[in-house]
Amino acid sequence: MCGSCVCGGGAGGAAQDEVFGEVADAMTVEMHAGLASEGGSKLKMLISYVDNLPTGDEKGLYYALDLGGTNFRVIRVLLGGQEGRVVKQEFEEVSIPPHLMTGSSDDLFDYIAEALAKFVATEGEGLHVSPGRQRELGFTFSFPVRQTSISSGNLIKWTKGLLYRRCGKSYLPLTLTFCFLMPSQSLLEVNFFILIDNGLYSFVVKAVICIMRVGQDVVGELTKAMERAGLDMRVAALVNDTIGTLAGGRYSNQDVVAAVILGTGTNAAYVERAHAIPKWHGLLPKSGEMVINMEWGNFRSSHLPLTEYDQALDVESLNPGEQIFEKVISGMYLGEIVRRVLCQMAEEAAFFGDTVPPKLKIPFILRTPDMSAMHHDTSSDLRVVGKKLKDILEIPNTSLKMRKVIVSLCDIVATRGARLSAAGVVGILKKLGRDTVKDGEKQKSVIALDGGLYEHYMKFSACMKSTVKEMLGEEVSENITIELSNDGSGIGAALLAASHSQYLGVDES
Ligand code: BGC
Ligand code: MG
Repeated sequence: MCGSCVCGGGAGGAAQDEVFGEVADAMTVEMHAGLASEGGSKLKMLISYVDNLPTGDEKGLYYALDLGGTNFRVIRVLLGGQEGRVVKQEFEEVSIPPHLMTGSSDDLFDYIAEALAKFVATEGEGLHVSPGRQRELGFTFSFPVRQTSISSGNLIKWTKGLLYRRCGKSYLPLTLTFCFLMPSQSLLEVNFFILIDNGLYSFVVKAVICIMRVGQDVVGELTKAMERAGLDMRVAALVNDTIGTLAGGRYSNQDVVAAVILGTGTNAAYVERAHAIPKWHGLLPKSGEMVINMEWGNFRSSHLPLTEYDQALDVESLNPGEQIFEKVISGMYLGEIVRRVLCQMAEEAAFFGDTVPPKLKIPFILRTPDMSAMHHDTSSDLRVVGKKLKDILEIPNTSLKMRKVIVSLCDIVATRGARLSAAGVVGILKKLGRDTVKDGEKQKSVIALDGGLYEHYMKFSACMKSTVKEMLGEEVSENITIELSNDGSGIGAALLAASHSQYLGVDES
């Protein structure tokens, strides 16, 4: 294995740097194309209807709901305006029972609405909305949505975990999944599972209707469920997690211009000048600005250093041809890429001996947190690597030499992902004209970052930050900060609910 194999191109250091510069340029070009017309680019450049970011003046009690994967969070914030800022903040995290992930959307939303109602019932001393007022909610929904207003929109497609989670892991190793798009635009998924149980083979066919139809009105579903749960609450803002993070980031730092999520999935949002959005035919906002949800996970370009492993992963995924950038960067896939390379090393070079360890053939068995743990192993005998291989892949004996190779492989895969996400950030800064220093002017630009991959995979985040610096050069880098905005998306959504409240301008009584 050599670095160039996975980084692509077989090029050495300098030539590889060029690759990332080309990716950044391609990102800028695609941003223009996506803003020019609907469907103009793989980059959807979705209009968020957020034309004002929090200022600090927001006041009152607001709720947020953050739904992004296997769990959701409900949040309550008391905002005190300029003097008080966030007076009080409470939250609860709820995991979604697996059967609801495969059931109907009604069941899922009923479950969420009931959890929300229970949380509302715990409103304590001084934590009430004024009498006669409806409670208002900011809804963070971490999937692509075509918004029709700040508080409504339709699901465009499912991304990341929700596509895979339904392949019950317990049924592996032999799972065949077929997806059919039904006339109703719902996704009918038929899974054929072959269970190997006590040496007996059984065959299970399971049909699963996706929890929410593509095109479905996201807020409408939640609102109906809240009504069923007897909860008097209104969705004041529907936002992507990147938009929530941007809003939360801006609240604490006025220099925040963009937000990036590096977690299970990946995406970015930034503040665009409204007149630089040709496809926007609505009124020009007073602020002159509009926040754009790039959905950069779907970015692709001939400059991306893709390998045969990426191609195979994509083809075998449930969304082939889609979310290509996400598939080489995000936490959902990094461990899986490593597994695929190891599998080929085992098959073609007998890396683990005469037989291929059976567990190694199971898709997604090697998770990114495990890859990160191996990558950060500092012990002289790489015992963390040894333990992971034993526990997860059931490979009992590995030599130090083998372990070293595995650490380098983790390094190659993580480095490529980190450098590509850095290239994405540089692409945004280029689009904003913030990649140069104009007349010695010191214009600060802050990027708010969130997501488990960035927060916990230290070698990944360090490499990402140093690549941004390297690509922009010393002088420009002095004005650019990448800031961890931990869980900013929940509070950000509550802030946007406040700034889009139906009671704006009505006196607090
Ligand atoms: C989704 C985005 C989301 C990102 C990070 C992607 O898979 O398409 O909408 O912002 O993950 O959660
Ligand atoms: Mg999230």
